[in-house]
Amino acid sequence: MTHAYPTKVLYIDMTKKSYKTVERPELFAQYLGGTGAAIKLLDEHCPAGIDPYAPDAPIIFSVGPLTGLFPLASKTVAMFKSPLTGNLGESHAGGRAAQAIRMAGYGAVVVTGASDLPVYVAIHGSTVHFRDATSIWGMKSLFTAGSIIRAGEPGAGVRSIIRIGRGGENKVAFGSATTETYRHFGRLGMGAVMGSKNIKAFVISGERSIPVEDKKKYRDLYDQIFKAAVGSPVMKKYHDLGTAGNVRTMQGLKAMPTRNLQSGSFEHAEAISGESLAEKYLGRRLACAHCPVGCIHIAAVREPYENESYFYKTTMVGYDWELIYALGSMLGIGDPDGMLLLIDEVEKVGVDSMSAGVCLAWATEALEKGIIGEKETLGLKLAWGDWKTYIKATEHLVNQPNDFYKALAKGSVHAASIYGGADFALAFGGNEMPGYPTGPASYLGFLLGTRHSHLDNAGYSLDQNAIKSGKALTPPQIVDELIKEECWRQILTSLCVCLFARGVYTPEVVRGSLEVAGYSLSDEEILALGKTIYRDKYAFKIKHGFDFDALPKPARIFETPSPTGPFDLAFIDEGLAYAKKRIGALLAG
Ligand code: SF4
Repeated sequence: MTHAYPTKVLYIDMTKKSYKTVERPELFAQYLGGTGAAIKLLDEHCPAGIDPYAPDAPIIFSVGPLTGLFPLASKTVAMFKSPLTGNLGESHAGGRAAQAIRMAGYGAVVVTGASDLPVYVAIHGSTVHFRDATSIWGMKSLFTAGSIIRAGEPGAGVRSIIRIGRGGENKVAFGSATTETYRHFGRLGMGAVMGSKNIKAFVISGERSIPVEDKKKYRDLYDQIFKAAVGSPVMKKYHDLGTAGNVRTMQGLKAMPTRNLQSGSFEHAEAISGESLAEKYLGRRLACAHCPVGCIHIAAVREPYENESYFYKTTMVGYDWELIYALGSMLGIGDPDGMLLLIDEVEKVGVDSMSAGVCLAWATEALEKGIIGEKETLGLKLAWGDWKTYIKATEHLVNQPNDFYKALAKGSVHAASIYGGADFALAFGGNEMPGYPTGPASYLGFLLGTRHSHLDNAGYSLDQNAIKSGKALTPPQIVDELIKEECWRQILTSLCVCLFARGVYTPEVVRGSLEVAGYSLSDEEILALGKTIYRDKYAFKIKHGFDFDALPKPARIFETPSPTGPFDLAFIDEGLAYAKKRIGALLAG
């Protein structure tokens, strides 16, 4: 039978500026692609104990068997050793990257080595070029660097450009990489790893078709997925308001992270809600390649020129829930113009918005409490709501002009380990918190998730169910649900399906789409594979130093009332002890 899954891996050596293509059909046959193929490749190329910035530390990009075939299989998985947490770095981005990698002929790209000079890597089909990027290294805005690369490279309309800003160049531990201007490999520091290799950007393009044996089955299933995606009320919400629609929900639950989570309620929530932003600022919506939903919302921010009438500088700024929470309510910013301009600054320098917001929130509270002073902040009077000062602080965070900003650029846990204030350093497993402080299931989800992300296992859904039903789960029950969900999500992310479409890609649709791609897997085999990938990710984490017993649990999460009601450290510790046993058994078995 003809199969439609990718088989080729492109290996790039940045030190030698050489590349080769290797046929690895067994990798994609066994692990599908995405997360499954990436963790295998990461383990093959990332020895225990290696510095995340060592030339030999790899960056892996991986796409899936449904990429280019089915709607919403629009994500690229990146894996690397995280400079922020010291173990598994995993980040997923939309945009055009996935289609471009697949259309260039690859299922995965493995990048090792480090260039002696700044370069960008242009992958056009089977040819790889290493282009001098000295003149665009250090540019104030990564948008400008992207425009310059765009002007000189072929493939307009089908290519992807994954680039870093000064955050990645200066090795901020949560430096991000941006693709197609508004999508990101945001979390855990892939941009910094690119910076350590002197890689300003990857440009990727190609054109080909994917063979499908049973065309009727393909067409029927395609139509079914497409109709489910465009007809689903959840997807309509994503299209209309995007995840910014969460503001009213979270504020209603009293789970709106406010002023470094000193409160779950923000008095200016309405001003920065999805509804308000859509009404007053929405300039356009965009979609990742091969997605009929289009959840990306772009605000048009107009700043009047001084002493001129009717003249404005208009800046287009992407926004979503995570940006609104981290660079809005978490910093006490209720002025939507100010929040959007701070978001724009964070985008221009190329750092993860959640980590940046949480680090600045920690610094603000540390200054309030006298743990640090203006000597540390270099005279900046960080204060809730003062977005202009936060823009200046973001510049310092990226340029790291003194020891304090150098420490903060390594993350809030690291800064707190030097200056104090660990009780209000809101990071889990070393990764700054996502905006879902709904209760114990959410926090256990952050602590246990292989990426320490809300997207790993959606603990917040368990909290929300508990609120609705009035039935609370015990710590072991929560952990069982989290692990079950995370194992299933390994399948979705190995297929590179956008997790917003998890309701569309039901187990039946997953099995059917795998059949179209040439696999023959039973439901049980698919579930077993999800478990295997989850186990392999944990094996990697533990090999690289992850320790359940060393996980900090900031006291703040027990102090600020959560919508599920009070819970304590003993509750979280019971969950962690149970998880340690369960994951230990999985690793041993
Ligand atoms: S739903 Fe949004 S994030 Fe997901 S693929 Fe579509 S546009 Fe991209």
